[in-house]
Amino acid sequence: MSDPVHRPTAYVPAGVNPVRRLGAGYSVRLWSVRHARQLEWVYTTFAELLLRLHWLWTLIGYHRVERPIVFVEKTVKGFLFDCRMCGQCVLSDTGMSCPMNCPKSLRNGPCGGVRADGNCEVEPDMPCVWVQAWQGSQRMRKSSTIYAVQPPVDQSLQGSSAWLRVTAARAGQHKASGHD
Ligand code: SF4
Repeated sequence: MSDPVHRPTAYVPAGVNPVRRLGAGYSVRLWSVRHARQLEWVYTTFAELLLRLHWLWTLIGYHRVERPIVFVEKTVKGFLFDCRMCGQCVLSDTGMSCPMNCPKSLRNGPCGGVRADGNCEVEPDMPCVWVQAWQGSQRMRKSSTIYAVQPPVDQSLQGSSAWLRVTAARAGQHKASGHD
């Protein structure tokens, strides 16, 4: 009888996939990286709009608009980027390639395991999220922000709206600098 401790197991729990890739969604994710420049413009324009509506969010209450905004953000970014709603979006720094799709969840990548063909060490048939990030960033106007060192993920912000947080932070900065 073989030793059960050292016997390799073929068991994988149902539905387990380190990056939860679905065929169609994955294609869209790669499309987003290829169109990083256009999406950068769209996001910059949209972020300005959100900022201009800061008075409205304040009037209604940021905490009250959080839920509907989260719904929209999750739907749009889930479709375009396979967003995991970490709440601390860095897409503008990572060429529109979401680092939370890295099987190792690296916020500062790539790791040392990128294969010679540019694919992931953990998922050999998947292009490395961080190789994609580099390629996407080089298409963007702010191509050097990929060099920024990202802080660790604050798990307490999981599921919250990065859009609203950025808007509130920018509004605070404007006020502090006397632009409001
Ligand atoms: S960095 Fe976070 S908020 Fe941005 S797309 Fe990825 S999971 Fe979503």
